[in-house]
Amino acid sequence: MKTAEIKRRYLAHFEANGHAVVPSAPLPAINDPNLLFVNAGMVQFVPYFLGQQAAPYQRAVSVQKCIRTPDIDEVGKTSRHGTFFQMNGNFSFGDYFKSGAISLAWDLITKSQADGGFGLDPERIWPTVYLDDDEAFELWHKQVGVPAERIVRRGKKDNFWSMGIPGPCGPCSEIFYDRGPEFGAQGGPEVDEDRYMEFWNLVFMQYERGAGAGKEDFPILGDLPAKNIDTGMGLERMASILQGVDNLYEIDEVRPILDRAAELTGKRYGAHSGHAASESHPDDVRLRVIADHVRTALMLIGDGVTPSNEGRGYVLRRIMRRAIRSVRLLGWQERALPELLPVARDCMSPSYPELAEDFDRISQYAYAEEDAFLSTLRAGTTILDTAIAESKSAGKPALTGERAFQLHDTYGFPIDLTLEIAAEQGLTVDEDGFRRLMADQRSRAKADAQARKTGHVDLSAYRGVLDNGGPVTFTGYTEVSRESKVRALLAGAGVPVEVAGEGETVELVLDTTPFYAEGGGQQPDLGLITVGGGQVEVLDVQQPVPGLIVHRARVVRGEVRTGEAGLAEIDVTRRRAISRSHTATHLVHQTMRNFLGESATQAGSLNAPGRLRFDFNTPTGVSPSVLADVEQQVNEVLLSDLEVHAFITSQAEARRLGAMALFGEKYGEEVRVVEVGDYARELCGGTHVARSGQLGLVKILSESSIGSGVRRVEALVGIDAFRFLAKEHLLVSRLADLYRVPNEQVADRVEQTVSQLRDAEKELEKLRAQMVLGGAAAFAAGARDVRGVAFVGVEAPEGAAGNDVRTLAQEIRGKIDAARPAVVAVAARSGGKASLVVALNAAAKGRGLSAGDLVKAALSGRGGGNADLAQGGGVPADQAPTLLGTVEKAIAEA
Ligand code: ATP
Ligand code: MG
Repeated sequence: MKTAEIKRRYLAHFEANGHAVVPSAPLPAINDPNLLFVNAGMVQFVPYFLGQQAAPYQRAVSVQKCIRTPDIDEVGKTSRHGTFFQMNGNFSFGDYFKSGAISLAWDLITKSQADGGFGLDPERIWPTVYLDDDEAFELWHKQVGVPAERIVRRGKKDNFWSMGIPGPCGPCSEIFYDRGPEFGAQGGPEVDEDRYMEFWNLVFMQYERGAGAGKEDFPILGDLPAKNIDTGMGLERMASILQGVDNLYEIDEVRPILDRAAELTGKRYGAHSGHAASESHPDDVRLRVIADHVRTALMLIGDGVTPSNEGRGYVLRRIMRRAIRSVRLLGWQERALPELLPVARDCMSPSYPELAEDFDRISQYAYAEEDAFLSTLRAGTTILDTAIAESKSAGKPALTGERAFQLHDTYGFPIDLTLEIAAEQGLTVDEDGFRRLMADQRSRAKADAQARKTGHVDLSAYRGVLDNGGPVTFTGYTEVSRESKVRALLAGAGVPVEVAGEGETVELVLDTTPFYAEGGGQQPDLGLITVGGGQVEVLDVQQPVPGLIVHRARVVRGEVRTGEAGLAEIDVTRRRAISRSHTATHLVHQTMRNFLGESATQAGSLNAPGRLRFDFNTPTGVSPSVLADVEQQVNEVLLSDLEVHAFITSQAEARRLGAMALFGEKYGEEVRVVEVGDYARELCGGTHVARSGQLGLVKILSESSIGSGVRRVEALVGIDAFRFLAKEHLLVSRLADLYRVPNEQVADRVEQTVSQLRDAEKELEKLRAQMVLGGAAAFAAGARDVRGVAFVGVEAPEGAAGNDVRTLAQEIRGKIDAARPAVVAVAARSGGKASLVVALNAAAKGRGLSAGDLVKAALSGRGGGNADLAQGGGVPADQAPTLLGTVEKAIAEA
């Protein structure tokens, strides 16, 4: 059975049993500071499980895209771990519990394939339950009929679930499938987890846990008021069972990638391996790693992650590099991704058609990353070669751990490659030293991650406020002021207070508010809240937990109390200017796509009063003429004065309408769509103008690169755009006045002026040279006799450039009778320094004189040139006469 069909049957089974079908959240986990990627189906439902939000349905089913980076080292070595995989899950929010979850699961896996089930043999199924969960044991045994000897009781590590923080927790029941004796020893999951493969985990959220250490050591505080079900069935694991293959790298969605890699590298997959994962040949493990990682890279880039040196981008980079390196280790040295990625696309696009549509963009990022890594490898190899040569010539048989670590850390050069190349050269590597340094680095990273965890604690005050009064209603789409009650005041570190006095800054929560909390790139509203006898000025508005709008405010008059009613009024001028920017951003986004293609997707934005910043992905820059076209088209849309309309609809309908959604943004089942006429349609929670004409004017100021593949456009909107243009116009008019020409001719006139100026400078230079040289004859006539040598020692006229000085010296020399030995010394002053040029003729050389020696004599050894002509300088300007005197003296003494 194809993977896509397993997915379809899973969804159909639970939909038929009253579950709402919920789409997968994107891979980047954006609402949890502790999680880079979604790693389970339940992640998008966490606010419902924690009771932070009311679940919009009592039963849900999904097939969630997941990434588990901790499993990276298992890939290819076990039969069942992918870095990317899909988790089928059914969820109950206070609805059915253990009995329902167990029978829904049992029905699906044992129902015959002809009847739409998976048709597994009941005899091969082994459930596990938590040590003291007799209830689950009895359900498996009595309700379903599994013999007691196939129901295994397991401890906290395997069969108890919590999120590691206070909140819901409970026992689990995992379902294993016995793949037969060829995969390992008999005796159930306790004996061999490869033969007995876990494919489904049922979590029974039953208790409330307290604070404690991690996931195993904590107190149980009591029963949860409403019990929940969270399950996860590995889609790939079920596929490997139903397709009768040894492992999940051989299923229909992965195997073709593996085969292509085998073809490229000339390896015969499986030739040397047994059935069990533990009997795998290293080449086969590498082929599986390649297949898994290439697929993961495709899915990650597809969901908007791009390779980088931190966070999500770094995970992607590591995974891609590992795939590329594995290909090379198997013997293929050329670019591999252009061969493999299209195969992955063809495997995955039946379930994810967007991958095919978006493949141009995805492949551009992937191929560029491979090229960059290949050049890293080349550079690393050179550095490694140098290190090897050094070790050899120092007679050391081992490369130091520091060196290996440096190669790894600085150049991203993988250790096994270092080992391999060193071994080829007959050297060993101090691996222990290397691993020590790696361990140090890892514990530093862990400490970092630990520090970040406190984010949970900080939010608890806000969660408390949310729990007490429910979500705050935002009324600002239609209102600019609103009467409401002060629900809570928080001072300092989230401590609730009853009252805040004049001058104090507090966080204030209202039951309903027209204030927009910063989000989706849109800046918050500012304004005033008048409560009883007091008034506060709103400085910032944020949403620290979904559903809770918090005003940071300063009490400017009187005092405010919890529970009092008040009037909240936003700064309308500011809001209008922000809304204009937000609508303008949508228009710029759509227009960029019109000109650059679908791949120009938004990567970030800022909507501030009167100005906007729009970041977008594109592998190439945007030419000035395209930018001008974009600007014009945006302004044409303003003139059409299209109606801006927002409405709530289902995610599916929004997609059908072609609404643009942002990467990495999680949208609920209900989404808000903002459309500008028929021109732009986008999922958006922000505020907008009513008609595009209200924007007045959009002026793009700049377009630039802000990172690999990401560009930024900045623009002004409305009156700010007008002011900018008006100012520019004033400037041009002023120039036109100065030139006394019409505005259109200013540029020509400036060009003309610049070229005239250049000509004049040239002319000036010529005149200056003439002036300098003009004195040459007079200077020559003034030659004095120094021991039979005609000596001229003069200072060059002020302003003479270096060239002029040299030419002057040569000119003077030329004006003296060649039969007479002659030495000409010209000193010059410029920039506070004195310099000296000495020229002499052949007759002087015949007397044993040398220009070079004379300059050196004058400048105590500094200066350069030959016997005929030499120069030097760098002494203080007032020494110019002394230089000439020294030359004369040197001639006298020669
Ligand atoms: P294991 O012990 O085999 O690593 P797990 O206990 O980590 O599994 P759960 O966290 O319970 O798994 O996830 C629920 C289901 O998701 C598992 O039963 C399995 O089918 C699937 N699953 C978990 N991790 C992976 C993975 N790395 N690749 C593929 N499927 C996985
Ligand atoms: Mg696991």
